[in-house]
This record gives sequence, structure tokens and C-alpha cells, in this order.
Amino acid sequence: MQPNCIFCKIVAKEIPAKIVFEDEHVLAFHDLHPQSPVHVLVIPKVHIASLAHATDEQSALLGHCLRAVAKIAVELGVADNGYRTVINTGNDGGQTVHHLHVHLLAGRQHGWPPG
Ligand code: AMP
Ligand code: ZN
Repeated sequence: MQPNCIFCKIVAKEIPAKIVFEDEHVLAFHDLHPQSPVHVLVIPKVHIASLAHATDEQSALLGHCLRAVAKIAVELGVADNGYRTVINTGNDGGQTVHHLHVHLLAGRQHGWPPG
């Protein structure tokens, strides 16, 4: 656990979140400021600052996060219509919380290219 990391605090249940899925390795919860009708964040429980900080040893964990996204989409009933997954990395990527997270956005048509 990284001190002062808001997502580590959510993992530790020190601050509340609307959790939609949890297992040994990942946690998923609704985004505080949803950008789509469905906006869930899927995070590894271990602190990884960004995708750029993940190691080869964490490859299976990264895959586990993506499988969790797909399962949650089914669970929330948005898999058939489709969804957008986003990982913002670093300054130019628009990352604001420095604990790796996958955005799952659904419930509307998403444009391309993104902003
Ligand atoms: P990013 O800009 O990719 O780093 O995304 C960070 C996301 O975390 C944003 O969509 C925020 O709305 C969301 N967020 C920040 N704090 C919280 C929180 N305490 N609970 C849920 N979502 C949060
Ligand atoms: Zn963290």
C-alpha cells in the first residue's frame, strides 16, 4: 500500500466506494464523476503507479484486470451493446490518479478519436 494513494485507501476500505466486483487480485468500483451512464474503474489491489510502471512479472495481473472488465460488462448488462475501455497513462495520457486503473465506459455511443 502506497501512503496517500486514494485507490490504495479504497482497497483497504479506508475510504468508501461503490464496489461492483472484488476478488483476490482486483477491485472494481463506480467512478465518482461518471463520464458515461456506466463508468467503472478496475484496479489491481497492489499499487502500480501506471501502465508504464508494470513489470513483466505483472503481465498475468494485467490480463486479469482486462478479464475482470469483460466479466463486469456482462454482469452490468452492457456487453452486448459494447463499451469503451481506457487506460490513461502519464501527463499526456491525462492520468490524474497514479494507481493503475482501467476505465469501463458504457451506456452511450463513444466517439473516436477521443478528446
Ligand atoms: P484518470 O484521469 O484516468 O487518472 O482517472 C481517475 C478517475 O478516478 C477519474 O475518472 C475520477 O473521477 C476517479 N476518481 C477519483 N477519486 C475517486 C474516488 N474516490 N472514487 C471513485 N472514483 C474516483
Ligand atoms: Zn495505490
